[in-house]
Amino acid sequence: MNAVTTTAELVAANPTTWNAITCAEVNARLENASAEEIADWAVATFGTKLAVASSMQDTILPHLFGARLAGVDVLFLETGYHFKETLETRERAAKAFPITVVNVMPRQTVEEQDAEFGKDLFARDPNTCCFMRKVDPLARALAGYDAWVTGARRVDAVTRANMPVITWDDNHGLVKINPIALWSDFQVEIYQTAHGLPRNPLVARGYPSIGCEPCTRKVAAGEDPRSGRWAGTDKTECGIHK
Ligand code: SF4
Repeated sequence: MNAVTTTAELVAANPTTWNAITCAEVNARLENASAEEIADWAVATFGTKLAVASSMQDTILPHLFGARLAGVDVLFLETGYHFKETLETRERAAKAFPITVVNVMPRQTVEEQDAEFGKDLFARDPNTCCFMRKVDPLARALAGYDAWVTGARRVDAVTRANMPVITWDDNHGLVKINPIALWSDFQVEIYQTAHGLPRNPLVARGYPSIGCEPCTRKVAAGEDPRSGRWAGTDKTECGIHK
């Protein structure tokens, strides 16, 4: 069987109740499928109950899913601390692809957070800042969906080395799909070039992993790409990928 002759077959066999076991079964069948095949399956299975998360470090997922589900919701965590280049990339993606960018907002503006917790909370307590500006807003945003798609890859970090392509996200209570989980940096480059995608210019300027501006620094050649995130602390993840 080829991985996804099978899309129709999989959809026909689509369990009505998703859980860790059903996700593991589908993962076993799709783990080595192409990102395009995984996206086909995801759209056929979940339709508009699917959300795509994008940090706008690149525009691969908005392209991949916009081509299959016009108007697909693309969730962007609007922390209030992004680089202007990232916000510009979001605008370019919204113009280039048939997607609906959903800006996921924290409960408080940066000013309100400053007033309650003091200025620059990220420098004193990044976990609380990430919780309020990323983790909690995402959890509320995902409540209306049956599945979400992320651009997380195994090469991103040792903590992601065994990350499945399809898994049950117990934390949020829905299916989590990582269609480019197995991609190398080279495959990322090939896809972007082949499709002429809008790029976040910061990547070429030495930012291989881009988050909020105060918590992201340039990385020297040969350094761990993630070492520019929360540099100088032991924090390595914002908390949305548990
Ligand atoms: Fe706050 Fe930094 Fe987390 Fe952004 S990455 S939410 S600024 S701690």
